[in-house]
Amino acid sequence: MSEETPPRIVVLGGGSAGWITACLLHHRWAAKGGRVTVIESPQIGIIGVGEGSTPQLKAMFDHLGIAEAEWMAACDATYKLGIRFTGWSERPGFESYFHPFPGPVDLHTEPAFTHSCMLARRGFDVAAHPDDWFLATKLASEGKAPQPSPSFPFAPSYGYHFDAFKLGAFLREWAVARGVRHLPLKVEEVVLGDDGDVAALQCEDGQRIEGDFFVDCSGFRAMIAQGALGGEFLSFADNLFNDRAVVVPTERIANYRPQTESVAMKAGWRWQIPLTTRTGNGYVYSSSHISDDDAAAELIEAVGLKGGDAEPRILQMKVGRMAESWRGNCLAAGLAQGFIEPLEATALHIVIATALEFAETYENAGFTAEGRDTFNRSIAARYESIRDYIVAHYRMNQRNDKGYWRQNASNQALSDGLKSLMTAWFTHKDIAEANRQAYAQPAYSAASWHCLFAGYGTFPPTAKMQPLPAGVAAPDRDNVDSMLQACAANFPAL
Ligand SMILES: Cc1cc2nc3c(=O)[nH]c(=O)nc-3n(C[C@H](O)[C@H](O)[C@H](O)COP(=O)(O)OP(=O)(O)OC[C@H]3O[C@@H](n4cnc5c(N)ncnc54)[C@H](O)[C@@H]3O)c2cc1C
Repeated sequence: MSEETPPRIVVLGGGSAGWITACLLHHRWAAKGGRVTVIESPQIGIIGVGEGSTPQLKAMFDHLGIAEAEWMAACDATYKLGIRFTGWSERPGFESYFHPFPGPVDLHTEPAFTHSCMLARRGFDVAAHPDDWFLATKLASEGKAPQPSPSFPFAPSYGYHFDAFKLGAFLREWAVARGVRHLPLKVEEVVLGDDGDVAALQCEDGQRIEGDFFVDCSGFRAMIAQGALGGEFLSFADNLFNDRAVVVPTERIANYRPQTESVAMKAGWRWQIPLTTRTGNGYVYSSSHISDDDAAAELIEAVGLKGGDAEPRILQMKVGRMAESWRGNCLAAGLAQGFIEPLEATALHIVIATALEFAETYENAGFTAEGRDTFNRSIAARYESIRDYIVAHYRMNQRNDKGYWRQNASNQALSDGLKSLMTAWFTHKDIAEANRQAYAQPAYSAASWHCLFAGYGTFPPTAKMQPLPAGVAAPDRDNVDSMLQACAANFPAL
């Protein structure tokens, strides 16, 4: 970065996105004289969902120098080694599978899994279920913590579950203690300058907050990016049918596993997220296929509550992304920037990536149109690549119920990248190569794509599977299992 003082940043919104962005930009630029202000309206409040992460959240805390001991207890957080998908396939043997965050040990077992998948894709009857090949899967099923004993140097990748309100409060306290200015005020108007850029935010108490650069973290309202600057929103409604969620908490699970559960429902899926003090539950559904009342009733029954005891909260979801995350002197982040539905819990992942990539772009190129356009292309590619992986879950589902699930399975609104990956799978091509060809910046590894396709049992019909020809051996699953067992012995119980 040049020797100039970094821009004065004003963040509108104090949800997870606002505070994450404020912490990261403050951490990056405070020593050089950077100044970050966060304005949030206590009356409006935050959405208060979004309680599962990818390993990117761990990377963020490490980057900020905040130890787990410091924040996890404050946010009722638990470890997350991946996501278990249950009921998305009715193929016998594939009713459930685990999508792990791949770690260093998995580099050794992944080739055997990939090879088994290739044999099964060609119609040979070999073991190719994803649950048999990854350390994180074993640790999650045995209820183990992801920190190995000191003599075992291969820690798996992991994320967290946390209370969204407490995470925001923790980050706010951390940021304010280090000099971020916090204004609990409602913004009434976005004031534009003659050049069309944002000049200031006019607050209800009469204060006018000026800045060099503004970050719109105002949630689905997108008050600056869409409201004032008229940025274009690209909907993903053709690709992804879910547009609502109903949420309800239940008691904490005593012997929880370090995983998010994603269980198929009549017109969507429900999550179960274990926290130390409660369990988060939510049903993400398509309002074209089920009413709010029926969705709430289905969720309440599924989580074992009695109707009268529960107070379900219905949320609308706007699924898609801004055509340009950075427009003029405004960056949109969080729900104001876009949302791809929570199936892979990627929203905060994108928030963190957006803040860091924005800071890097500014440091390398300042505020230039070229830097901004490169940044916008990169963020757009990230969204599209994550969206495709999530669309693939629905497209590959192997459920037989009519309506929602069959409509998803026959959805033709697929990107070229996803079509080419599906073609590669069914024509026995190398998925790692197909992934590189399909996406400039693949958000998901070949291992993840194998887990998804294999997890739903996307192989020739069982009746057509053949034994391996003489002289051809399948990877030795027992050998892999012994190795994983030995590795897992180095990890303590939760
Ligand atoms: C059903 C569902 C499940 C989800 N699950 C996950 C998940 O598992 N993992 C994940 O990473 N993400 C998940 N998300 C996304 C996640 O909830 C959001 O990315 C995250 O909470 C950040 O939200 P936000 O800060 O952008 O918006 P919000 O939390 O809505 O915050 C908006 C902020 O803007 C302020 N504001 C708005 N207007 C004004 C104004 N005029 N003046 C002043 N302040 C204003 C509000 O007061 C608030 O502080 C989920 C989302 C939904 C809908």
